[in-house]
Amino acid sequence: MTKPIRRAGVIGAGVMGSGIAAHLANAGVEVVLLDIVPPNLKDSERTDPAARSRFATGGLEKALKARPAAFFHPSFARSIRTGNTEDDLGLLAGCDLIIEAIIEQLEPKRALFAKLEEVARPDAIIASNTSGLRIEGMMEGRSESFRKRFLVMHFFNPVRYMKLLELVAGPDTDPDTVERVRRFGEDVLGKGIVFGKDTPNFIANRIGAHAMMTTIHLMLEEGLSPEDVDAITGVAMAHPKSASFRTADVVGLDTFAHVADNCFNSLKDDEDRKVFEVPAYIRTMVEKKLLGDKTRGGFYRKG
Ligand code: NAD
Repeated sequence: MTKPIRRAGVIGAGVMGSGIAAHLANAGVEVVLLDIVPPNLKDSERTDPAARSRFATGGLEKALKARPAAFFHPSFARSIRTGNTEDDLGLLAGCDLIIEAIIEQLEPKRALFAKLEEVARPDAIIASNTSGLRIEGMMEGRSESFRKRFLVMHFFNPVRYMKLLELVAGPDTDPDTVERVRRFGEDVLGKGIVFGKDTPNFIANRIGAHAMMTTIHLMLEEGLSPEDVDAITGVAMAHPKSASFRTADVVGLDTFAHVADNCFNSLKDDEDRKVFEVPAYIRTMVEKKLLGDKTRGGFYRKG
């Protein structure tokens, strides 16, 4: 019989990590949720554990506030322990599964996996919630044993409500690892599973980012506004909650730009590549921290 997954680590307490942590806790899994130590701590805060773990605690609070209380039973929420990646990595040693959900950039992810190789149990499963970075790149420098236990576990946003989980195995992932996570995803987390391949942006975001980028380019060419487009792609097309630009605000414009860049940079010989080129005005929005719902707004003002 395969060993059950009772304790999980989630790293990155942003939009996705907090949602994943809350969903795991609701399913009865004990969770350790870590984020970085805030870079701009005051001198008086540098030795204060609460201040050092503020990103993880704050991220989780945001997720719990954003979703109706009924879906996050308070006692389950209390089974999430928050911390930071400088002081608390050791807490991951007790985890059966560790899910990485930090920013969508290759180098920070690689650096984190190097650290996880030191602290994780030798039989722990390690997963990335990447939107589309290749496993090949993320596993550079990792041992064979780590690669065998690694796969992509791509949740959809909001984690609580989206029924699908995209699993992607790398060339070295052990089939038992995939099977254990498939069962966990279906039986414990209540998700439907789809298997992607280790190609740029896998299935969901290869199609999703293509559709969104086509929409953005057409909007600019035709001189339309996000509201004009959403009026068509939302209710009128039977997607009341997922009109194009509303969805981009939920995803986060920085994450969305990284996802499109990933395809643009990976598909060097693909004639379709140009569609993934992020327009300058979206870069400007990202620079101004108009990132969507996680900041003061994006295409739409928040609130
Ligand atoms: P986010 O920007 O909301 O959160 C990222 C979090 O990671 C932040 O809290 C940040 O402080 C933290 N972080 C950054 N570097 C870190 C490090 N080295 N160690 C620990 N924490 C670190 O991003 P997100 O939207 O939650 O995305 C997280 C991952 O999930 C990305 O890989 C993204 O592509 C993927 N994803 C996002 C969505 C979505 O809709 N936003 C959907 C599916 C998958």
